[in-house]
Amino acid sequence: MFYKSTRNSAAKVTSAQAIAKGISVEGGLFVPESIPQLCEKTIDKMLDMSYIERAKTVLSMFLDDYTAEELDYCVSSAYTGSFDNEQPAPIVSLDDNCKILELWHGPTCAFKDLALQLLPYLMTTAVKKTDGKNTVILVATSGDTGKAALEGFSDVPGTNIIVFYPSDGVSNMQKRQMCTQVGENVLVCGIKGNFDDAQTGVKKIFTNPEICAKLDENGFNFSSANSINWGRLVPQIVYYVSAYCDLKKNGANLENGFNVVVPTGNFGNILAAYYAKNMGVPIAKLICASNENNVLTDFINTGVYNKNRAFHTTFSPSMDILVSSNLERLIYELCGCDDKANSNLQTKLSTEGVYTVSADVLAKLKENFAAGWCDDKGTLETIKKYYDKYGYLCDTYTAVALNVYDKYVAESGDDKVTVIASTASPYKFVPAVLSALGNESDIPSDDFEQARYLSTITKTEPPKSLVELEKATVRFDTTIDKQDMTTAILDFLKI
Ligand SMILES: *Cc1c(COP(=O)(O)O)cnc(C)c1O
Repeated sequence: MFYKSTRNSAAKVTSAQAIAKGISVEGGLFVPESIPQLCEKTIDKMLDMSYIERAKTVLSMFLDDYTAEELDYCVSSAYTGSFDNEQPAPIVSLDDNCKILELWHGPTCAFKDLALQLLPYLMTTAVKKTDGKNTVILVATSGDTGKAALEGFSDVPGTNIIVFYPSDGVSNMQKRQMCTQVGENVLVCGIKGNFDDAQTGVKKIFTNPEICAKLDENGFNFSSANSINWGRLVPQIVYYVSAYCDLKKNGANLENGFNVVVPTGNFGNILAAYYAKNMGVPIAKLICASNENNVLTDFINTGVYNKNRAFHTTFSPSMDILVSSNLERLIYELCGCDDKANSNLQTKLSTEGVYTVSADVLAKLKENFAAGWCDDKGTLETIKKYYDKYGYLCDTYTAVALNVYDKYVAESGDDKVTVIASTASPYKFVPAVLSALGNESDIPSDDFEQARYLSTITKTEPPKSLVELEKATVRFDTTIDKQDMTTAILDFLKI
């Protein structure tokens, strides 16, 4: 099976090459030439498998240039011992229809661990098969990716990792998680600007021929751990397939399929659900949930993608995004894998900040997706509502998804079983969660005191990795202008 670029269908690479490179030379993203199909027999076999076995089954269908031994090594290393739950992606059933898929039992308490615990193994295995250079991972993060990537790559031989985050766009806890990261091969750096500034800066460096040549001469190669890397997406497909197996095994009513709601930023997580659907998982509607940065809601409802709008800082900062990188893969698919048509739209986006898809593409979009959004007030109300109604404590991201789910059901009357992707632990965003529960006057000011307070009033356990942060040493405290990103990289690599 080969992969091609969304901006040049003639660029044909293996999965190992796609994962080692991260992004295609002309700026396109790698996509599989065809989507492998899951037949009923394979699903039935998967029902009694562990998560690790299910992951190997799905990955082997997409990464067919990896040997069975290599996949076994990668998957077992990633998911053994690093999650606080026996099952890395358990489903909590709130009622017959509403099923919460908890994706935050990994070391950084957010869903990105599912992909980023595995990516370093997929990548170092890929590099061994391809050019054997030292990999330099560049990450632009709105919070969670950075820490999850740092945890995954820390002290992995043959790799360096450099993380840029918007200095005012991440929570205190996220900043602390990143700036205390251990490992000789890591650099963490704040950027004056927002997430899009950091992401644009990283993309420019990736595609700058002079910088790439300089790395090459010194035995280095850039790669990306951002969700544009195929090695990030494919582990995410696994948990939607696994969720289907669990629902089926537990006798959920799947006669008409099931819906999935995903709190969405860069469009990686929901795109993985779209691929799962195209493999044959009976997903009916993919419901895209946004915060006040509702560019995707408008796009799915109208076919016009317009990033020329105010940028909002919200209680769900990892979704404060105006350019959703992974959407390009969907656009390419929906344009009938037409690289020219996709390139034209992407050029419009970078020059004018807006594009409009054809009526035909819009129809296909609407057939697969529904979309909604909610503001911070709605987010907090939803945390309280679900805590009062089900005793279920959720974070701000999951709350955005639940808010949009409630509105979707009220408007459509669609009563299918629905899987809500729960992307973070409530302990990652304690101040917002506490104010949602309405205990404002007694809230302590210290982050760790707050977590203990939340634990006391809700009788829930804070994740161990967050508790341990209190005693960790801060190793990184610099903030730089975005034009100085290249210098920071070259200094760190000493070239
Ligand atoms: C990154 C992130 C998201 C958004 O996921 P995308 O794949 O970028 O759409 C949602 N929730 C949390 C907690 C995240 O960290």
